Amino acid sequence: MTDALLVLNAGSSSLKFSVFRVDGDALRPLASGVLEELTQAARFRARDASGKLLDEKAWPAEPALGHAGALEFLNGWLRAHGDGLRLVGVGHRVVHGGTDHAAPVRLDATLVDRLETLVPLAPLHQPHNLLPIRILLERQPALPQVACFDTAFHHGAPALAQAFALPRAITERGVRRYGFHGLSYEYIASVLPQHDARAAAGKTVVLHLGNGASMCAIAGGRSVASTMGFTAVDGLPMGTRSGALDPGVILYLIDELKMDARAIERLIYKESGLLGVSGLSSDMRTLAESSDPRAAEAIELFVYRIGRELGSLAAALGGLDAIVFTAGIGEHSALIRDKVCRAAAWLGVELDPAANAGGGPRISSAASRTAAWVLPTNEELMIARHTRALLTEEH
Ligand code: ADP
Repeated sequence: MTDALLVLNAGSSSLKFSVFRVDGDALRPLASGVLEELTQAARFRARDASGKLLDEKAWPAEPALGHAGALEFLNGWLRAHGDGLRLVGVGHRVVHGGTDHAAPVRLDATLVDRLETLVPLAPLHQPHNLLPIRILLERQPALPQVACFDTAFHHGAPALAQAFALPRAITERGVRRYGFHGLSYEYIASVLPQHDARAAAGKTVVLHLGNGASMCAIAGGRSVASTMGFTAVDGLPMGTRSGALDPGVILYLIDELKMDARAIERLIYKESGLLGVSGLSSDMRTLAESSDPRAAEAIELFVYRIGRELGSLAAALGGLDAIVFTAGIGEHSALIRDKVCRAAAWLGVELDPAANAGGGPRISSAASRTAAWVLPTNEELMIARHTRALLTEEH
């Protein structure tokens, strides 16, 4: 029997998974996929490490498969397809670790109860992240489970970078800047030394540009500042999230437009960002291909805000050795990278257009004072690494 680890990333209506074979010191990706539309007509798709489709399945809308049904199906699928594999642990992506967790932790029922108290800090993500953990604790109590937090990488950021200028009584309730996408940043920090030893030891800004988008200032491998704050709606405009707003806008929406909390939540999480500004789509590919001037405006605003945040994060670092693009847009959109690098010329970034068109990894010219890189992120592998490390430590 070969040992294997399962990585789960549960969202409101989807369950993403990856399976890794534990091969001595190495973790080899075997399969990954998604169960989506869990509250409606669910679909399943799994691919092998080369991207080849392994299996797919669809369910009717009634009865909805739900997260519990999805986990049960996945368990059966893994048993049927994981010939000779023994599942030795499950690593979960959990969005919020609060002020307690600077590192991944082994899960038990008491800890899940504690993590449940963080739901008000991440109401759109935390409950879904915790649901499969509870189900597995109940059904397979002997199976070790580990929580890997999106906030943990930022835990050691300087106190000033975590502070809001609010009265202490509010801060003490946990209202402070946490930062997210930490597993992605941690992964990039772990591979950067292979590409750019100077930047890895020095000052880097990583741009995680996907549907969710944020940027992180990293000094010597540690997070020192991030564009996301108390929640994952702060900072850059995103696919459907507004990014940073003057707090006075929220008061205006309440007082003048008579919007309540849920309506504002919908507005700033689901109806804003690239979708809101373009009125067309939240998808960068669609916008880049569109001739509608509103699509161009949405792209320009996205790039403008990235440029502003880059200046701010470089100030937090007191300099800049490299910028790194990652996630869907960062890895695949030469157009956005081109525009961002041009906006960052004053910071010493000189783009090599041919290298950028080719996808990197280095996209800055040989003479560029500040290097620019494209490095694919791998949050699942980061979770698998943490899970294995924690389970090995305990034996
Ligand atoms: P998530 O935050 O959901 O994980 P991803 O990291 O997959 O998101 O990023 C999704 C975004 O990446 C979408 O806006 C999509 O249009 C964009 N994207 C993916 N491929 C390309 C491409 N070839 N060109 C431009 N944008 C792309």
